Parts: sequence; C-alpha cells; structure tokens
Amino acid sequence: MAVSRRDFLRAGSGATALGTMAALGIDLAPTVARAQQLRIANARAVPTICPYCAVGCGMIAHVVDNKVVNIEGNPDSPVNEGNLCPKGAASYQLQDNPNRITDVLYRAPGATEWEKKPLDWAMDRIAELTKKTRDETFVETLPDGKLVNHSLGIFSLGGATMDNEWNYIHSKLMRGIGVVAIENQARI
Ligand code: SF4
Repeated sequence: MAVSRRDFLRAGSGATALGTMAALGIDLAPTVARAQQLRIANARAVPTICPYCAVGCGMIAHVVDNKVVNIEGNPDSPVNEGNLCPKGAASYQLQDNPNRITDVLYRAPGATEWEKKPLDWAMDRIAELTKKTRDETFVETLPDGKLVNHSLGIFSLGGATMDNEWNYIHSKLMRGIGVVAIENQARI
C-alpha cells in the first residue's frame, strides 16, 4: 500500500499510534497481541496487590523461572477491574530496569565527584546527621509556655516508590522524633 506524507499526517493528527495505523489500513492489533502473548507464554500468573496506595488495585505478576516478566491489572479484581493508574502500570519497570541505580553514591561537602559507599555506611551517616539535627533544633516549649515538643530543623519528603508499609513506619519515626513537616512527592 502506497502512503503519501500527506496521508500519513492526515491520519496521524489527533490519533494514537495504533489509531494512525488503523486509519492507514494497517491493523497492528494481532502483532501487539502476539508480542504480549510471547512474553507471558508459559508464565505462571500470580495474583497480587499493588503496593503503592490504599486503593489496593489487584495485579497479576507473570513469572518465568522465578523472574517477573510482566505485571498488569487483574480483571477479576472488583477494585480496579484490570485497570491501573500510571504509577501502578509502571511497577514492572521499577523491579526490572537497567537504569536503576543500585549503589550508594556520596558526594562529600565541597567535593565535585561522587564516590561509591557501602549501604551500612550511608545508613549510619544518615542516622548520625538526623540525630544531631534533631537534638540541635528540638524545642519543648514556645516562649509563651505552650508545649510543642517539635523540631523544625528537618523536613521529610517521601518518594513515589515508597509503599504503604514504608510510609506508615516512616511517618511514625518522623513524628516520634518531633518532625512535623512530613510530605510525600506522590501527592504534590
Ligand atoms: S494502581 Fe494506582 S490507584 Fe491502584 S493501588 Fe496502585 S497506586 Fe493506587
């Protein structure tokens, strides 16, 4: 089939990639379905729950040789009926991503280069600085005598990839040491 540049632009305006191909008379649906089928062929389907928020969407993880090869919405879930929000839909890329940084990188004050550090070293360093800052900025009472027991020297910002349990424990820890400025990037 001969497709002119004008035909292609006309068909593509305001349409999805698949819609564009369909408008050009090219049906990609069987190709897409086949590619998906191949990826999960012979996979074990494991029902699970999205870890991210309290909606609790149902997911199916496809596993081959103990390795997750695909994660998608579970159509049997009464909560989401197979749908996932963008965050849940991207969970496969979170667990299998060549761009994921797996080393602790540290740049000392004034330094220009990052250096790799052991995880234990980084955890101890964070704990030391958190304790030091908290102790230096902790206020029990305001000048008018009001009891506050807080520290305004620390702001806690959680990341979108923190799951429910991690957020729960983290907010408990922060409140326990007097931090009141607690936010999560996922809702900003
Ligand atoms: S898919 Fe989205 S809405 Fe559903 S539980 Fe996960 S984060 Fe929440």
